[in-house]
Amino acid sequence: MIEFKNVSKVYPNGARGLKNINIKIEKGEFVVVVGLSGAGKSTLLRSINRLHEVSNGEIIVGGKSITKAQGTDLYRIRRDIGMIFQHFNLVKRSSVMRNVLSGRAGYHSTWKMVLGLFPKKDKELAIQALKRVNMPEKAYIRADQLSGGQQQRVSIARALAQEAKLILADEPVASLDPLTTKQVMDDLQRVNQELGITMVVNLHFIDVARKYATRIIGLRRSRF
Ligand code: ADP
Ligand code: ADP
Repeated sequence: MIEFKNVSKVYPNGARGLKNINIKIEKGEFVVVVGLSGAGKSTLLRSINRLHEVSNGEIIVGGKSITKAQGTDLYRIRRDIGMIFQHFNLVKRSSVMRNVLSGRAGYHSTWKMVLGLFPKKDKELAIQALKRVNMPEKAYIRADQLSGGQQQRVSIARALAQEAKLILADEPVASLDPLTTKQVMDDLQRVNQELGITMVVNLHFIDVARKYATRIIGLRRSRF
């Protein structure tokens, strides 16, 4: 599903994000990436869907080179990748439903999205996704009225509505308390097991990593 071939990343200011990384992640794995702050976890995750460019090497996602892809090819690869962030990245003043539906945006023309014209099938997918994270009754509540844990579950539902085959989660529980952490991690585990969605999750708590990962990848800050 994902392969890193000798990938390095140096930021424009000279900071080194990654050095000669070679990894293979198979479909259906629940991979947790651990390491101290500054080890390169975010850099690694953001390279997978090319939120930034790497300096060297190649990354293959779903059999295609995302580092070389252009135009429609890049867009198609990205459509299969759901993204979850530490601070949820929801549109705060929009409803939960609108946020979950935004996962469908890549399937439609821009003008339809500007007008918010989602087909009925999309609304059904969004409701199903909310059911999977046990939040169907919150569909018409504004996103900023939810707790942090609930917002994170909405962002999982958004990735499900997107029909992502791979979910990248960058410190998804770093701002949550232990009970909420468990709920969010349990949801990620459930979608991994029930839907076979491949997970790559950055965490800084090793005990949480041990509980959920089918494989743990440790990153160490590279010295030049
Ligand atoms: P986290 O705690 O999530 O690792 P950081 O504080 O490392 O967050 O980074 C927050 C933001 O600042 C990120 O967008 C990251 O890319 C950027 N950043 C991190 N380190 C540097 C740096 N040395 N120079 C410029 N930007 C940085
Ligand atoms: P982690 O997620 O493990 O905390 P990062 O990937 O954020 O690590 O950072 C890895 C290294 O890259 C650190 O030295 C960090 O300061 C640097 N870095 C991260 N983002 C940026 C950025 N936007 N600009 C410059 N340096 C960055």
